[in-house]
Amino acid sequence: MRHPSDSQRRADRLVVLGGKPPRAPGAVWLVGAGPGDPELLTIKALKALQGAQVVVHDGLVSDEILDLAPAGARRISVAKRKSRHTYSQGEINRMLVAFALEGLNVVRLKGGDPFIFGRGGEELEACREAGVACHVVPGVTAALAASASAGAPLTHRGSAQAVTFVTGHAAKGAEPDLDWTSLARPNHTVVIYMGLSMAAPIAARLMAAGRDPATPAMIVENASRADERRVVTTVAGLAEAAAALGGPALLVIGEAMALAREGEAENETLLKEARA
Ligand code: SAH
Repeated sequence: MRHPSDSQRRADRLVVLGGKPPRAPGAVWLVGAGPGDPELLTIKALKALQGAQVVVHDGLVSDEILDLAPAGARRISVAKRKSRHTYSQGEINRMLVAFALEGLNVVRLKGGDPFIFGRGGEELEACREAGVACHVVPGVTAALAASASAGAPLTHRGSAQAVTFVTGHAAKGAEPDLDWTSLARPNHTVVIYMGLSMAAPIAARLMAAGRDPATPAMIVENASRADERRVVTTVAGLAEAAAALGGPALLVIGEAMALAREGEAENETLLKEARA
């Protein structure tokens, strides 16, 4: 039997679809942009960006990274800004799904990792409900960049057998609702995202739950960026140290932070060194 030619197959499909050529389905890529330094972007994230037709990004992503998308790609900022409309999570979800259903390749670019306090899970669920393909590209989360630049490991033999990531974010005026007893356990690193403005009550709660006030701690602002700043302190000194910083910043508490180095960003990139 003769096999049908490609053009015959295409023609058959056109008849089935009533004369309209089928549109290639779009997809959503939830991409982690890393903590700020473009060199901390993964190769997979770079490739996803290079294939993007639409880039939907939040405020933590730098122009240097956004410029890696094709010049013709549509860029939409969903950053929270006082002066203009702020998109709700529902609106963002609907936007991603709508672009993908139009047949576009959508990159949803997020600071750090999309699944660490990034609401990536909600966007993934919205895609699944709408039958839209959704791919996830992990990113270097802020905690990893903060620990690397300070030279203080998140786990360390003898002084940090576990590390816990928590959010310090809470409803307006309220304190974060966390398991203070477990966070107060010694030989354990606690990383608090979105906790800068809550540093005083967080430190007080930890000490009340039994964490030694002398436990080393650090705050890292703008980890991996040119304007990175690090303050090394203790749980007892956390509130005072936080008052001097503006964020985005992480509070990192734990015995292993005894290794942390204070300071500004060294701002020397491997690429610059390699080119020299
Ligand atoms: N998905 C992101 C976190 C988003 S929540 C990630 O994986 O890193 C936003 C919070 O992350 C900020 O309030 C701050 O606490 C922290 N953060 C993000 N980028 C940071 C950076 N470069 N330096 C320090 N903290 C950062």
